Amino acid sequence: MDQAPRDHMTPEQTARLTVLDKRHLWHPFTPMREWCDPGHEPLILTGGDGALLRDSAGREYIDGNSSIWTNIHGHNHPAINEAIRAQLDKVAHTSFLGFTNPPAIELAEELVKIAAPGVLTRVFYSDDGSTAIEVALKMALQYFQASGRPERVRFVSFENGYHGDTLGAASLGGISLFQKRFQAHHFPAEHVGSVAELDALASPETIVAVVIEPGIQGAAGMRPWPRGLLAGVRRWCDHNGVFLIADEVMTGFGRTGTMFAFQQEEAVPDFLALAKGLTGGFMPLAATLTTEAIFEGLRGETFYYGHSYCGNQLGCAAAIASLRIFRDENVLAALQPKIALFADCLERLRAIPHVREVRRCGFIAGIELGGADGAPLDPALRTGARVCMVAREHGLLTRPILDTVVLMPPLCVTAAQIGEACEAVERAISGVLMA
Ligand code: PMP
Repeated sequence: MDQAPRDHMTPEQTARLTVLDKRHLWHPFTPMREWCDPGHEPLILTGGDGALLRDSAGREYIDGNSSIWTNIHGHNHPAINEAIRAQLDKVAHTSFLGFTNPPAIELAEELVKIAAPGVLTRVFYSDDGSTAIEVALKMALQYFQASGRPERVRFVSFENGYHGDTLGAASLGGISLFQKRFQAHHFPAEHVGSVAELDALASPETIVAVVIEPGIQGAAGMRPWPRGLLAGVRRWCDHNGVFLIADEVMTGFGRTGTMFAFQQEEAVPDFLALAKGLTGGFMPLAATLTTEAIFEGLRGETFYYGHSYCGNQLGCAAAIASLRIFRDENVLAALQPKIALFADCLERLRAIPHVREVRRCGFIAGIELGGADGAPLDPALRTGARVCMVAREHGLLTRPILDTVVLMPPLCVTAAQIGEACEAVERAISGVLMA
């Protein structure tokens, strides 16, 4: 290459930004003492194309976790870039409280068409996965208040589930590592592990909704549900007049092989929470879809909820472009052979003695590390994090959940890159655990 990429920085520029970052920033889910250690060189990401990301020194990496599960069609996709630029030339953001705008309207029509036509007909916008869940919780509560059933106040979610970090969404969470510090401030939610445990709940007539991540639990360490579970939950909800809230913040937009995971069991939820991949991973935007019956139940009232950036025009324009790419590039059809190849490559990882388990649902995988004898590792050793650090040296960026290495590249990843990503994981495991 005779020309440095446009996002390249000099070592001096990188050093300056590193000092400033460590002086002023506080990163999410990041142990800051280690981050600020003088020996730690944070990766400053400056550019990307397709499934590749570049750091400030011009080194390239496969984006192995789709930039925290958001990116769908690749970075710098010309059609999404162009849609954002075109919208920017008109207006970036206008209030959605008492006003409307063209991209928000067009996007709602598209979402209604692809999710559950004729059933999920109403779209409420917010900003991220947590707020998409908050919207569903409050709509469901207000619906029962408005329809004369104020005794319905309980929420049920699943053990090891994760629905976001705002206090309401976190109240549903079932992962103690994330929850325990704030537990006293959460509203009480009941956790179950199966349909049988739902059946065992007393007084279902006081339950508002059951919340679930369809297909696979993400933050739990990529744990797929047994097939049929979602349909079983849907039947239980129907039988008891309880709403089903599907959290497809991670699984939405093709990740599991279909546009949405619930479509694999034809178990249509009453609320569908979408975020992360909604804009192709370009802008923060979320949507909560619901039914006409729920909308009608609240039509005579105001729904007391909203954020400044609801219906953001740039985000909606990006999302419309992303959905158009699904159609124009036949993304879901092109994904099927990639899923088969991904499964084959993961199979090879399964054979490594230090791999305890490989879990996969469509294009989402978790590779759980263990001792050579198959026993779990001591979490204090932070082996997953160390393996991911070494994987960088082999050209792969990803982030573990404890000792589970997550692999879920953008859907546009090439066959060669799938092989390279799996090889990088293999080499990193050898480097850390078999050295
Ligand atoms: N639900 C699920 C299933 C998630 O995986 C996440 C985030 N990882 C969220 C909700 C929260 O989304 P956000 O981080 O955008 O608030």
